[in-house]
Amino acid sequence: IRQRLAKADKIEAVSHLSAAISHEIRNPLTTVKGFLQLLGEKDYPDEKKKEFIDIAVQELNRAEEVINDYLTFARPAFEKEELIEVDKELNQVLNVLNPLANLNGVKIRKKYSPELVISGDCSKFKQAFINLIKNGLEAMPNGGELIVQTFRTGTVIHILVRDTGLGMTEEQIARLGEPYYTTKGQQGTGLGMMVTFSIIRAMRGKVEVKSQVGIGTTFHIRFSNLIDEK
Ligand code: ADP
Ligand code: MG
Repeated sequence: IRQRLAKADKIEAVSHLSAAISHEIRNPLTTVKGFLQLLGEKDYPDEKKKEFIDIAVQELNRAEEVINDYLTFARPAFEKEELIEVDKELNQVLNVLNPLANLNGVKIRKKYSPELVISGDCSKFKQAFINLIKNGLEAMPNGGELIVQTFRTGTVIHILVRDTGLGMTEEQIARLGEPYYTTKGQQGTGLGMMVTFSIIRAMRGKVEVKSQVGIGTTFHIRFSNLIDEK
């Protein structure tokens, strides 16, 4: 099954990302606090203690995942308008994700057109691509190839992220970016793509998805907020 989607419109629902984050982090912290208080109140049997601690660690892992989806490259809240050197920023993202690529036995291939520059907020740009590329790596638990390609046609800058992973069904593609939509159970937050789409949309970029189950997925992003070259 092949599908194309022009999307980035899906996010209307979640306009207040920061409210969503604080909610997503506060919940697990409240749970952890509760279990620590229980542990402090009386001497539970070892088995019970272990159970409480396991839950607390799981909840902290969850909070950490949420923070990763939003704030890996966080900076003060105001939106910056700066020069984004596309290959340099993508390299930083790939460096951050290199341990995960190695863990999954994924080979990363870069096919950059040099010296592409767009305008926007660098840290947001990186957050968008870290979430996107991380999904690609997670879709290849038994190895594969991740290709990051950039090129320019006229005034449009193209960034393609391709994986040879699990792929998605039509239904999965349609639900991409829906808050809390995840197929990863406890391991997933279902927030990564929502963040990615909302950032790309804010940069007036377009996202197109092509995916085939068992073959892999390609995200094709187009930006036209070029910097004028002198
Ligand atoms: P999470 O990664 O926490 O599950 P995301 O919002 O990042 O949340 O992704 C939502 C879902 O979209 C994933 O659970 C997965 O089912 C699907 N998905 C996203 N990217 C890919 C990909 N490259 N290959 C296969 N499935 C993907
Ligand atoms: Mg994700």
